[in-house]
Amino acid sequence: MYENFKRASPCIELKPPIRLKLAMSEIKVLPEELQNRIAAGEVIERPASVVKELIENSIDAGATGVGVDILNGGRRLIRISDNGRGMEREDALICFYPHATSKISTEEDLFDIRTLGFRGEALSSIASVSRLKILTAPSGLTLGVSLEIHGGELREVREVAHSGTTVEVKDLFFNTPARKKFLKSQRTEVYHIVETVTVAGLSHPDVAFSLTIDRAETLRLPVAGGIRERVLQIYGEEFLGGLMEVNEHNLSALISGEENFRSSRANQYIFVNRRPIRDASLRHAVYSAYDTLLPRDRHPIFFIYLDIAPSEVDFNVHPAKREVRFSDKEAVYRSVYNVVRKALSGSAEEDADYGVETDDAPDGLQPATRNPQPVTSVSQPATPEVPFVTEPLLKYGSDFKYIYLGDVFVAYTDGRGITLLDHHAAHERILYERLRQGVGLEVTQLLFPKQVRLPAREYNVLIHRLDELKEMGIEAEDFGHNTLMVRAVPGFLFDADMAGIMSDIAFCLIESTAGSPVEDLRDRIAKRIACHSSVRGAVMLSHDEIARLLDDLSAAEDPEHCPHGRPTRIQMSLEDLKRMFKRTG
Ligand code: ADP
Ligand code: MG
Repeated sequence: MYENFKRASPCIELKPPIRLKLAMSEIKVLPEELQNRIAAGEVIERPASVVKELIENSIDAGATGVGVDILNGGRRLIRISDNGRGMEREDALICFYPHATSKISTEEDLFDIRTLGFRGEALSSIASVSRLKILTAPSGLTLGVSLEIHGGELREVREVAHSGTTVEVKDLFFNTPARKKFLKSQRTEVYHIVETVTVAGLSHPDVAFSLTIDRAETLRLPVAGGIRERVLQIYGEEFLGGLMEVNEHNLSALISGEENFRSSRANQYIFVNRRPIRDASLRHAVYSAYDTLLPRDRHPIFFIYLDIAPSEVDFNVHPAKREVRFSDKEAVYRSVYNVVRKALSGSAEEDADYGVETDDAPDGLQPATRNPQPVTSVSQPATPEVPFVTEPLLKYGSDFKYIYLGDVFVAYTDGRGITLLDHHAAHERILYERLRQGVGLEVTQLLFPKQVRLPAREYNVLIHRLDELKEMGIEAEDFGHNTLMVRAVPGFLFDADMAGIMSDIAFCLIESTAGSPVEDLRDRIAKRIACHSSVRGAVMLSHDEIARLLDDLSAAEDPEHCPHGRPTRIQMSLEDLKRMFKRTG
């Protein structure tokens, strides 16, 4: 992608007096054979990658406090300050060389990684595409050194009073216009930065973090006693209340309790040795463990922390270390599966009537929902032979009869045939159309406006889009401190989980690429909100409610399908039944 980009290498010209002292330094340039064993690739793609790499360095330096300041989406300034062990002058000079690291020195070290960094690439990469200044002093001393490097060239070395380490990155990509072009809007970059600091906060509860964006405090996370407290700091009490905690010897987790599901895959995290990873197979383990408890198109929240002996896991797979290789993948899969199962057992409803079907996850992530062991399948696709009748042939008056089959399907008839209705799907279709068109929404003013506390990254996206929410019947205003004040909602969302809805909307907004048509975005938001309709779980509708649902459904543009394309109803006329019972002729 960045063919035009050439890294200045070596990036600093050292003058002789400094070179003489290098032998004392802790940081060494890795030998070439070892350089070649390390997963190569560019790690600095956007401001958030700078933030990630610098925070990792601070944590590796033993910092217990990390401050992040951002100006202009990170284009103008990214500043990371820590109270870690800092560097001696010699180390500060060598750390900007490609492959210079204090974290590994031999090939064996690659199989015993206990630090977040080990490639020795971040600082040299960042310094070669920005105007960078570092101030650092070894712990215990207040006199340190300040270096300035512009586009890979050392400009200035000075003695300064300092404690800990501060890295300031200005004008990112100033000398690589091709990369600069790939940067997204300021808001998108800010979103990724907030996400990066949030994830760092989740991985390291024992470290305090603060984040300011254009001088406004966006996140403040004091040192927390554990993951529970950290999740509380980031998401608030209500969110934490919907989660269950499990602790096994090498695994701890906070996961969605029953009924606390979302319509996006937001807030699903897996950490291995305090490093966030992406792993389709482990996510599959979690979804499989939820099994039939998970309604279709719904996703659990999970924070899973695995501790694995460094010799049993290879982090040298992906340049940004997002993927890992386990030496016993199946054992890890099983332990995740078992822990989630264990947490759910007891609260699990034996006869849940939902099919597990999340293959068409809207965010394009890999499908992850087949059961590991054969279990009774409850999600049979509609048999194609069953005829679909487009014109409703059955009329229902005030006295029509119906029965519930399980808690989702309703069967009714007028004597000339039978219709099977999926009441969730029908409800979703109606709400989806209303939200998309912005009509028929019946907005209810809340007598007691609801304060919705959100994670900082979602809050920051939503406060700029409140007008668009209003068009969908959600009237909210910025209440400061990561909180929105919701004053009115469409009637059907009266009892719904507002924080969940807001998070889902924020995810739609952030996923929408700059050029995508407004209609598209609205459509996606409408689909997600519709999933939150108040008919959740095992609620059964009354006679009048069903009659109204059927009325509304017949008025819909496409009464036959839910917004995700599955049938809302299957109708069989007497003729169809005769054919099926081979009574034709
Ligand atoms: P890596 O983290 O893979 O070793 P980097 O290029 O990120 O490579 O950093 C190079 C070296 O600089 C590190 O190994 C570490 O010794 C030193 N260093 C970087 N940041 C800090 C910091 N904030 N405090 C102390 N030392 C640091
Ligand atoms: Mg590093």
